[in-house]
Amino acid sequence: MRMKTTGLLNDLRRDRRVDLLRRTVQSLFGLFCLYAGFRFYLYYLWASGHSDTYVPRPPSVEAFLPIGALVNLKRLVLTGQFDPIHPAGLTIFIAALVIGLLLRKGFCGWICPVGFASNLAESAGRKAGIQVRLPAWLDYPLLSLKYLLLFFFGYLILLKMDLAAIEDFNRSTYNLVVDAKMLYFFLAPSTLSLGIMLFLVAVSFIVRNFWCRYLCPYGALLGLLAFCSPLAVRRKAQNCIDCGRCDRVCPGSIRVSHKETVRTPECIGCGECVSTCPARDCLALGSPVRRRVPLLLLPAAVLAVFFTFYAWAVLTGNWHSALPPELMRQIYSSIDLQQLAHP
Ligand code: SF4
Ligand code: SF4
Ligand code: SF4
Repeated sequence: MRMKTTGLLNDLRRDRRVDLLRRTVQSLFGLFCLYAGFRFYLYYLWASGHSDTYVPRPPSVEAFLPIGALVNLKRLVLTGQFDPIHPAGLTIFIAALVIGLLLRKGFCGWICPVGFASNLAESAGRKAGIQVRLPAWLDYPLLSLKYLLLFFFGYLILLKMDLAAIEDFNRSTYNLVVDAKMLYFFLAPSTLSLGIMLFLVAVSFIVRNFWCRYLCPYGALLGLLAFCSPLAVRRKAQNCIDCGRCDRVCPGSIRVSHKETVRTPECIGCGECVSTCPARDCLALGSPVRRRVPLLLLPAAVLAVFFTFYAWAVLTGNWHSALPPELMRQIYSSIDLQQLAHP
């Protein structure tokens, strides 16, 4: 019995490292995004004539332009040509889709800084004891919102936009400066935008992962692709002691303790349920060929896929925008970002 308890504690100690690793990886991506955002702000000051110091534009800010990336994924399929204007955005988008197909929503669980912020708000809310679980009659209709948004964008882009419309969109001034428009949205939000942002931040402390669970169409798309993923959390019911710890820690609010295999699109592959389960040989990451695969395989593969796409883009010249900085400076000096409307 003593040996069994010691072994169990060892298991817990070892698995806790997965949680620590996830927080570390998420923090590094989050800090990098803050750094890239700051560098982009300095670039914007130069490009808009408010500073004489040129700072190169960080391509990674394009990660926050998934709609343009979807447009250009369609263009890539139709023409075989990679987007020369926001190539990093398309690279990151394709990497996220491939991760979704192979490794569940590992992009959400390990890379996305918005998901990280949402996770932090969620754990702060949990510790403060202010978190509520929405009743099913409200949860299910809200869950459909992100799919409606995904359907809306999918319909507009994949069905309604032909190649001519895509080329018009790509050449539009709006598309050329859409990253700065996004920056402007946060630097000088309208009263309505500010109110919505404050509401989303506040509600994220009270309702677990509100944005990701109910509103993010990007996550909805990755969740649908994750149905194809060979990896999934599996539960051996005969070893379960019904402690409910897996249900309590799951950021996706999944009732893990009621499932044999977690196939729901809400699973972000974080591994928290597996690392917190006190029962031996009960919860594990599994694949169709192996009932149990090492938990670290998922984040290792997520990062390997992500950085492979990054390396490919850099080596093939598909990371940096083809637009010369001087041209962008001319464009910025001739427009008013506040007035610039979507084409
Ligand atoms: S659901 Fe959206 S915001 Fe949330 S982690 Fe996934 S991609 Fe990021
Ligand atoms: S089921 Fe497990 S791996 Fe999936 S989101 Fe919930 S805690 Fe994370
Ligand atoms: S944490 Fe493990 S033992 Fe507890 S309910 Fe979940 S699967 Fe069962």
